[in-house]
Amino acid sequence: MSAASTGTGTTDPTTMSALALARAVRQRELSAREVTTAHLARIAAFDKGERGLNAFLRTDEAGALAAADAVDAKVARGEDPGVLAGVPVGLKDLFVTENLETTCASKILQGWIPPYDGTAVARLRAAGAIIVGKLNMDEFAMGSSNENSAFGPCRNPWDPTRVTGGSSGGSAAAVAAGFCPITLGTDTGGSIRQPAALTGVLGIKPTYGRVSRYGVVAFASSLDQVGPFAGCVEDLALALEVISGHDPLDATSIVEAPSALGPALAAGGRPQGLAGLTVGLPREYFIPGTDAEVDAAVRAAIRELESAGARVIDVSLPHTPHALATYYLIAPAECSSNLARFDGVRYGRRVQPPGGDLAAMYQATREAGFGDEVKRRIMLGTYALRSGYYDAYYRKAQQVRTLIADDFRKVFASCDAVATPTSPTAAFKIGEKTADPVQMYLADVFTLSCNLAGLPGMSIPCGFTRAGLPIGLQLMGRPLGEAALFQLAAAYAARTDHARRRPTLALEAA
Ligand code: GLN
Repeated sequence: MSAASTGTGTTDPTTMSALALARAVRQRELSAREVTTAHLARIAAFDKGERGLNAFLRTDEAGALAAADAVDAKVARGEDPGVLAGVPVGLKDLFVTENLETTCASKILQGWIPPYDGTAVARLRAAGAIIVGKLNMDEFAMGSSNENSAFGPCRNPWDPTRVTGGSSGGSAAAVAAGFCPITLGTDTGGSIRQPAALTGVLGIKPTYGRVSRYGVVAFASSLDQVGPFAGCVEDLALALEVISGHDPLDATSIVEAPSALGPALAAGGRPQGLAGLTVGLPREYFIPGTDAEVDAAVRAAIRELESAGARVIDVSLPHTPHALATYYLIAPAECSSNLARFDGVRYGRRVQPPGGDLAAMYQATREAGFGDEVKRRIMLGTYALRSGYYDAYYRKAQQVRTLIADDFRKVFASCDAVATPTSPTAAFKIGEKTADPVQMYLADVFTLSCNLAGLPGMSIPCGFTRAGLPIGLQLMGRPLGEAALFQLAAAYAARTDHARRRPTLALEAA
């Protein structure tokens, strides 16, 4: 990403990549305090108030400036300030943060101040990143539009009447709007890739187990994975590298994972050609329900990969039509178990009806604390796990999950990645799908299988609709095959400029 000049001879830090910012801070061309102040000012100008985007649920000015000063002091002493020195980072509000309120965009956790940092957050801080605040999301990460937030939807920077996608809507919008060059989200069924696509930024859901889930509030533990958003391939790779790695505090953490980046990106070199890489096009993902403009942009992107040297072949993932039903049994089942801990005793809010006993307190707390979609998921999951129904629903879903993973295993014998649309449509209007949960669930029809199979999946910007809304290309890879995805993304980004376009924010235009 190139740094735009403000015309006064100085560079506006909010237009610079994370890589460029960290380099400038390390070389004392910019102080971490200047960088942080510039980003906080942009957030104050464009995110707050009636017309703001509402990407941040809260910012932490004091904490951010103190962290920035600590980085500047390290630089002054000649110590290594880390590869993300002075880079402002925002976190989806389900990453627990020491002394900083964490709500999962739910009323039930309002006021909860965690006593510790999770692993990904601790690794960011150790690398010199500046945590500027906590980002909007669908409540407990359940949703595809950020409209299930208890604190209002997040608006899409490209068109504030439209959704950002979800559930990591704030994380996607914050990068698109230039509030911070890197953010973290989580992806259980598409919650990084789908909002990345709808806001024109890059996002990656790593292989299950590459990034620790310690200190991340759980939705569906066998599907949840942490990943970064960024505005360019290099920043995405840098962020993933920092947060990856074995963690004894997460029992599903992979002990020895190969680098996600591959030799070219790791060396900071020029993108390699794609000779020797094969990309599969699964026919089940090129279907009539997809918007024609999305389909055309994705097919054009695939032709671009082909002209960069990749071999493109047709493949089939025959169990794809069952992914949605499978996901909506397994994810709610796990959520009904995980969310049992929010009972008014240990975290956040408590509602005690006068004269009521403990059971009345549980009931009143959960009734007042959870929103409609979370209640729907808990009920669906509890139903699927009931004795007598378990074999028909939950066990059957686990069997189909195995068939879906097997489909991918077979396909990856003959290709290094598969390419599909990330989402069947560009960003839809706020309110357009809220009345019909199944319509909302369909927004993730192309992203769910990746989680069921535990694979890495990336979304990269690949064009715009005539109305000026971003479109995303999804690349899915072998388990621990992130390097191939980065190689494809880097080659694609070098040939196109979709990822470099930035929205003009509504308040700017006014
Ligand atoms: N939209 C999907 C759901 O609502 C996926 C959410 C996610 O990945 N966290 O469950």
